[in-house]
Amino acid sequence: MKLILHYIRRHLNLFLTAITFLTIEAIADLLQPAIMERIVDKGVKEANISQILTYGGVMICIAAIGAFGAIMRNIYASRTSQTVSRELRSDLYKKVQTLSLENIDHLQPAAIITRITNDVTQIQDFVNGCMRIMAKAPITCIGAMVLLALQTPWQIPVMTAILLIAAVLIFANIRLGYPRFGFMQQKLDRLNKVSREFLSSIRVVKAFQAEDIEMEKFKEASQGLATATTSAMQIMAVFSPLINLTVNLGIVLLLWLSRNQNSQIGHLMASVNYMTQILFSLGMVSNILNTAARATASSQRLNEILQEIPSQIMVQNEISTVREGDIRFENVSFTYSGASQETLHHITFQAAPGTTIGIIGPTGSGKSTLVNLIPRFYDATYGTIQVDGIDVKQISPKDLRTAVAIVPQKALLFSGTILENLRWGSQDASQAEIEASARIACAHDFILDTPKGYHTVLGQGGVNLSGGQKQRLALARALVRHPKILILDDCTSALDAATESKVLSGLRAMNGITVFLISQRISAVRQADKILCLENGKIQGFGTHAELMSRCSTYQAIYASQIGGDDNG
Ligand code: ADP
Repeated sequence: MKLILHYIRRHLNLFLTAITFLTIEAIADLLQPAIMERIVDKGVKEANISQILTYGGVMICIAAIGAFGAIMRNIYASRTSQTVSRELRSDLYKKVQTLSLENIDHLQPAAIITRITNDVTQIQDFVNGCMRIMAKAPITCIGAMVLLALQTPWQIPVMTAILLIAAVLIFANIRLGYPRFGFMQQKLDRLNKVSREFLSSIRVVKAFQAEDIEMEKFKEASQGLATATTSAMQIMAVFSPLINLTVNLGIVLLLWLSRNQNSQIGHLMASVNYMTQILFSLGMVSNILNTAARATASSQRLNEILQEIPSQIMVQNEISTVREGDIRFENVSFTYSGASQETLHHITFQAAPGTTIGIIGPTGSGKSTLVNLIPRFYDATYGTIQVDGIDVKQISPKDLRTAVAIVPQKALLFSGTILENLRWGSQDASQAEIEASARIACAHDFILDTPKGYHTVLGQGGVNLSGGQKQRLALARALVRHPKILILDDCTSALDAATESKVLSGLRAMNGITVFLISQRISAVRQADKILCLENGKIQGFGTHAELMSRCSTYQAIYASQIGGDDNG
């Protein structure tokens, strides 16, 4: 709740304006039965037309004022709740951007999405609901009770008893509903996770004809959500009618007790009307408290993101510290959080500025993990990594990530034109610079072959391109940034041997850029200045192709396994 109050406080003016209009609306509602009573008892009963017209006119005026209040309250309530949810979403988004990959692994991407979308919507509904009833329910409820009590004091004990029973029911509703709504959101996380996994790997699912397995997973997640939602809704389904029933029985009881009171008909009508208003406001209170239970569960989940302590401390230097691209790993070990074993063990090597370092080793040997430590996607658990003699932890993330460009194996492109995707590397790049980078990445020719060249629009994730074309665009995008350090994480795997070799010789011809080239293929790394051979997170050899061929058994084994494949020595 603190979180919600914090955001409401930021827009207190809007909030209070909505509440003011709501108060006008509530007072107008409250006056209607009293005027009706006069029309009936003084006008209709005594056949006094002028009384009917006077009070009728007053009634229309008050109804018009009430309607105006309701319209304005709606406008301000929507504006406030939309502003609160927009700010909350953008604060969450900003926070997520400051988190390390370790934090993201911990929070889980699917759960982050549910929180930024669904949980924020719960809070938006609650804030909106507050401005519908916050002042209205108490004003209507208390006002109607006071007016009733003034007219008929003997009704006070009966009304108090009815309200006490309703309050107990509302309290029980909240106590039972709250944990169920939290559980419901967790099930929604799970459904989002399963759907996301399925949609992002739909080709693999189809290729392996695994639709049935995925369907089963989806059904189970969907069933989980349905069960959790039903369980939460059942609570509402039981309590809402119970609360209504209590107040309705109360009305019947009061009418029964009024039978000997010799009341005027208009007076009786007003009493029933006030009781209905009390019933209506109790219903609203019970509804908003249900929304509050959901919003509290949601705000707790949002707080988990907002209060997540970034696992990395970032320094903020204004001066650019990366000039050469000299990289040193000093006795670096790394363990993923929650993992029982180290992924990298005592890694020590140096990459001189402007050189190309090939990294080779079996799948799972730690190649990607090693390069991910350079731009600080993760921090080394032990040891230090230095860029130009400075510990990466002492370099501002902006500086470090301007200097280091990474091209992952799975090229991630965005919907938009090819040009927009390439410019993502650097907004200030000229067309000539972009084309030069595309030429080095062997992308220029195929770009010109697309229907609108650099202005061809790509679908989400670049669906209208082949794997190799996506990789070449991702490489061109990285080159547009003119990085000092370029990390190619097996990003030429989808290229044919001839194109790969052309791309690599283009990269070698670039001066002053330190390249890390991860590949499974000897043919890709053999020309590198030095090759790092990894196995089970340990360095097995570090040297030129010739050196490793003479003294590194792991390298020799990889070489032997590929002879007659795509490499013939
Ligand atoms: P390679 O690039 O050589 O194929 P990786 O660096 O991707 O190897 O992975 C090395 C090891 O670290 C593997 O055992 C993998 O399961 C584990 N690993 C990779 N990423 C994570 C992660 N985010 N959390 C936990 N373990 C991971």
